[in-house]
Amino acid sequence: MYGLKPDVALDLPSKYYSLEDYNKGVAKWCPGCGDHAVLTNTQKLLREKQMDPAKTVFVSGIGCSSRFPHYMDTYGFHGLHGRAFPVACGVKFRRPDLDVFVITGDGDCCSIGAGAWVHAIRYNMDMTVMLLNNEIYGLTKKQVSPTSRLGTSSNTTPDGSVLPPIHPVQTTLGVSNVSFVAQTADWNPAHMYATLKAAYEHKGFAFVHILQRCPVFQLALVDEWTSNKEAMCYLENENGITVSEDIAKTFKSRLSHDPSDLSAARDLAMEDDIIYLGLFYQNKNAPCYDDYGASNLGFTIEQKEAVLNAEFDKYAI
Ligand code: SF4
Repeated sequence: MYGLKPDVALDLPSKYYSLEDYNKGVAKWCPGCGDHAVLTNTQKLLREKQMDPAKTVFVSGIGCSSRFPHYMDTYGFHGLHGRAFPVACGVKFRRPDLDVFVITGDGDCCSIGAGAWVHAIRYNMDMTVMLLNNEIYGLTKKQVSPTSRLGTSSNTTPDGSVLPPIHPVQTTLGVSNVSFVAQTADWNPAHMYATLKAAYEHKGFAFVHILQRCPVFQLALVDEWTSNKEAMCYLENENGITVSEDIAKTFKSRLSHDPSDLSAARDLAMEDDIIYLGLFYQNKNAPCYDDYGASNLGFTIEQKEAVLNAEFDKYAI
């Protein structure tokens, strides 16, 4: 063209993934369930990051929210109750090139899966974790969960629950080697999207606690969450999770919080009356166990055999 030769090459992706490329089937959650909003925002994140569906894995346990992998046109593993974390860690350990997401609920994570949860935090493997907390067992039709607040009436506690709940943010912040803890709400899509994006961009175990509406079995709680605007406080900081000023203005209260301050994060998590939305804590330098597991990837079977035989020979008699 005009005697000139192009001296640049455009690095265009071979394919552009649209929302349809990530969507599979019609989600069978109840109308008004907060899980729908989490699914939509997650698919938008995959599109923005142009994640390859063939290199993305969603792992879940058991519960309403754990049906999530069925509605993502990626790889998925809808596994055993409370065992999403070991499966996800195994996937990441041997395939560090994959984007790994964990979807779990309050019963799945904080009850039967609590042991796996605590160790997964400490192992700090690179994955995005969403705990959808509706404070009730919804799939099995209203039994008290470990996060149900004191006095919750359910099929297993008709006179009200008698134990104080586990708070997932408090608990996660209490485990050694914690690296990312954030909280958001399914009915604030802009904040939830910004939170999921920050979690995905964090290298390590990015734990997102999502307040999730269950209008079928927790209607009073849904009303309380969505009507009591005084109780919701936006955590802001230049290193935190930011939304546009138009969205930030919808919060009646805002608090500046430095997410590198673990002690301050724990203090905030201990408060019962205020629900803070935003980034509680981030440590970008916490060791990731998957970095160690990846060290022998790429070796051939023969090379691995040679190393093993050399080690065994040290003990030959
Ligand atoms: Fe959602 Fe509750 Fe219905 Fe389960 S029972 S799908 S959590 S609204």
